[in-house]
Amino acid sequence: MALRALVGCKRVIDYAVRVRVKPDKTGVVTDGVKHSMNPFDEIAVEEAVRLKEKKVVSEIIAVSCGPAQCQETLRTAMAMGADKAIHVEIPSPQYETLQPIHIAKIMAKLATDQKADIVILGKQAIDDDCNQTAQMTAAFLDWPQGVFASKIDKEGDGLTVMREIDGGLETIKVKLPAVISADLRLNEPRYATLPNIMKAKKKPLDKKTPADLGVDLKPRIQVLSVEDPPVREAGAKVADVDELISRLKALGRI
Ligand code: AMP
Repeated sequence: MALRALVGCKRVIDYAVRVRVKPDKTGVVTDGVKHSMNPFDEIAVEEAVRLKEKKVVSEIIAVSCGPAQCQETLRTAMAMGADKAIHVEIPSPQYETLQPIHIAKIMAKLATDQKADIVILGKQAIDDDCNQTAQMTAAFLDWPQGVFASKIDKEGDGLTVMREIDGGLETIKVKLPAVISADLRLNEPRYATLPNIMKAKKKPLDKKTPADLGVDLKPRIQVLSVEDPPVREAGAKVADVDELISRLKALGRI
């Protein structure tokens, strides 16, 4: 029996943008800044599409939680091959205090409602770098998890997942239903072609609110301050190792 896949598609500041901290240090500047699909979510969508091409997956449902512009991210996912999309509307300022625990509750509820057999998320969102949502979603659903996946194969009634771990690879078997998170080497996402972008405009996009899903968005942490990393000091050239050592000594570094 082919599987139903739910895929996370977070809209984030584009990876190529130089992120700027707001003067009041409450967060980063997002207005007028280019946004795109989280790169690990592109990999997640790509994997779902490849599993569909292999007839392992029958339907792909893309999910994005956030402001209205998330619908553009969902159209991209559908242009890549997702069949339909769900936009969970979370406007600012609520979106600013949203955390992985809230997304995980939303994903778990949608996975149940949509009768998903597999949830594929990115290993981390490049804006918050949390790397928590997939693990928490698995916990809420009480499903097995295969996170940091660099290869996925259907085997019998489960999946074989090769995982990227410190200093090597680990291969595990998970029973379905399961939650997977996509690591960098899982695949290379395709570009959406113009005809597919046009087709994606006609694919169904459903809208929901966290209240529809019974999820309370009360923040669990408070951001006290967001700071720029320290500015890197200019380097200096030394003639030889002796000079290097004496300079380091003079600086009190050794
Ligand atoms: P994180 O735990 O925040 O690093 O996010 C890990 C993954 O969870 C992302 O790569 C997405 O697949 C998913 N995710 C997180 N936030 C959202 C969101 N607002 N909408 C859709 N998916 C999300």
